[in-house]
Amino acid sequence: MLPDFQLLQRNYLLRISQAMSSQLDLRALLKIIMENAVELLAGQAGLIVLRQQNGKLSPAVSIGLPREAVPHFSPLWDDVPPDSDGIPDISRRLVLAARAARIPLRQVVALPLNAEGQNRGYIFIFRARGAASFTESDSETLRTFANHAAIAVHNAYLYRQVLSERERLNAIIENSGDGVMMINPFRIIKSWNSTLAKLTGISAEEAIGQPCYAVLNLKTKQGVSVCHTQCPILHPPASGQLYAEGFFERKDGVKIAFADKYSPLHDEDGHASQYIANMRDVTRQREADDLKETLLAVISHELKTPVSIIKGYAGTLAREDAHWDTQTLREGLSVIEEEADKLNALITNFLEASRLQTGNLKLHMTEVYLPEMAERAVNTLRATTDRHTFSLEFPDDFPTIHGDYERLSQVLTNLISNAIKYSPKGGKIRVGGETTPTSVRLFVADEGIGIPAAEQELIFERFHRVDNGLTRQAPGTGLGLFLVKAVTQAHGGSVWVESTLGAGSTFWVELPK
Ligand code: ADP
Repeated sequence: MLPDFQLLQRNYLLRISQAMSSQLDLRALLKIIMENAVELLAGQAGLIVLRQQNGKLSPAVSIGLPREAVPHFSPLWDDVPPDSDGIPDISRRLVLAARAARIPLRQVVALPLNAEGQNRGYIFIFRARGAASFTESDSETLRTFANHAAIAVHNAYLYRQVLSERERLNAIIENSGDGVMMINPFRIIKSWNSTLAKLTGISAEEAIGQPCYAVLNLKTKQGVSVCHTQCPILHPPASGQLYAEGFFERKDGVKIAFADKYSPLHDEDGHASQYIANMRDVTRQREADDLKETLLAVISHELKTPVSIIKGYAGTLAREDAHWDTQTLREGLSVIEEEADKLNALITNFLEASRLQTGNLKLHMTEVYLPEMAERAVNTLRATTDRHTFSLEFPDDFPTIHGDYERLSQVLTNLISNAIKYSPKGGKIRVGGETTPTSVRLFVADEGIGIPAAEQELIFERFHRVDNGLTRQAPGTGLGLFLVKAVTQAHGGSVWVESTLGAGSTFWVELPK
């Protein structure tokens, strides 16, 4: 081989190496390789075909060929088995291709682009009719170019694989039903998925780059920071994984219970360099647990009292050695009846509350005339107190409305019995109504202890009771107003209270006409 030629070849290859280390665009790179190969081998045209994902070969870059002619060259690579080391019968294939493309090419040299034992395609160099045939040494020369092209294609393939793997991972993390964040050894948040953003109301932009304890300071029920006391980076767990639970309070005041699992990612030295935190919203489970706990406490407290009164009276009245006069018997039995009524009301409230929990409040709508309903409720409850006076204040033209009779009576009964219960010194209880152009309003007003302003919304929550001396003494479950609100809302209405501490409260129920 001529020294000049070797020098030239070295120059070409140098150019290609430079392009390969600076260029990431595969097509541009293949073009440079091919231009140099065609030039060095004094060819007229060149073509590189690459194997697609489906295993088929298809043209990727060409030079010296009109664009529309390129597809006609397919006889060159059609039916070439993927494990073939070269293209069998190449001269006959070229004749077919040249004829189909109407280009007078006579000579061809082709080499496979193989990398890591896999064929990624072929490089073809053509000479026109009348030019010298390709020699064995031309093939040798082309081999170096083919190797470079194969490496470039292989790298691009790997790069694409890494990219798509990364996209796949990102998609899995992004679409995970759990919140996912990653923290580094300095407790800085490195990633934050959309579920976590949705749960916390904090976007990835706000969270990433911040210390995790500043963004998501989980606290225990007692208010202790989980992020400091149980942080896996400050206190590495012996077993690797760490499980923690805590609450997070969103900007809108909603409290979310989180169950977190921290898993370490290890560096080459085996040190945990990052932690992946998997955060699950367990608010509903916690609520259900709390509900169960409260329910048990309330049941044992509230149900036991009437039951033991009933048992005490029944046992006493049934004693065989005692002869009770009629008066005592009647009084005893009426206590039993009253307590049984209380039990009944309690049980109804419990059942309703659990029905609401499962979202099963069905209304049986009929025509309802509220003044009549209020009169009945007042008459029933009047018998339970001798300290209170009652007045009914409905305008004469009060309209009938569409509603669930049983449930609305329960609303009235709950409000009136609260009015009695929470005005221990007695006083007047007014039950009445008003109309507006689109709705009717019911009110129950008492002259009792009143409700502090800060509690006036909270009392409608399940099990919420105002923490004062009287509430502690007065029996109750904290379910009454919860039911009042649920029933009112199911009717498309609303409920609120106006109250002055020490002077009394007025509960309002507004229902659409
Ligand atoms: P319960 O009466 O069983 O405790 P409710 O849900 O009916 O439950 O009421 C919740 C809380 O609201 C009561 O514990 C009480 O502190 C307060 N409350 C309700 N009605 C009145 C009222 N008329 N006057 C003062 N406080 C009231």
